[in-house]
Amino acid sequence: MKIILLGAPGAGKGTQAEKICVHYNIPQISTGNIIREAMKNETPAGLKAKEFVNSGALVPDEVVIEMVNDRLKQDDCANGYILDGFPRTVPQAEALDQMGVQIDKVLDIEVADDVIMGRMTGRRVCSKCGATYHTEFNPAKDGVHCDKCGTELTIRKDDEPETVKARLQVYHEQTEPLKDYYQNKGNLVMVEGVGALDEITAKILKALEA
Ligand SMILES: [Zn+2]
Repeated sequence: MKIILLGAPGAGKGTQAEKICVHYNIPQISTGNIIREAMKNETPAGLKAKEFVNSGALVPDEVVIEMVNDRLKQDDCANGYILDGFPRTVPQAEALDQMGVQIDKVLDIEVADDVIMGRMTGRRVCSKCGATYHTEFNPAKDGVHCDKCGTELTIRKDDEPETVKARLQVYHEQTEPLKDYYQNKGNLVMVEGVGALDEITAKILKALEA
């Protein structure tokens, strides 16, 4: 089963990807890992990526695409894989098609923006011991200090409302058009990513088998 995973940041893709990988015994391939591995192994594309990373620039599409292509040819991908974080734009999806990669299902986990805002902006962390809390789902006893060590809880930059909003906007502008792209190809499946985690997983597996 060759799967592309779509969904907004905070839609719960990571958690569900792990369960899908176990179910089908396939690797999860995320762009971040591919770039790190290729640089570590000093593949031709990895060496190119290194130059961009070292100069603080984003790794350009053509280099990422080369790394993805290399990665999908490895033995552990023979029975399939789940691609997470790639393609992120329509041009990247077109590049994947041009490589001759045949995708079975494109799974889109749908969660409304306001639900994502609630999930992410409610997160609190203890900078001292690393404990994590959520103002609604897993609050600290007094709401302000870490239960374990008493340190005042803080909000990570990634979880600040402005940051989450900006990331959602980028998703809607650049990545969401992929839904239409794959809908037109006939392999898009959409699952609502709200509710108990196990129920979402069950819905996903059913949709993938349909
Ligand atoms: Zn603590």
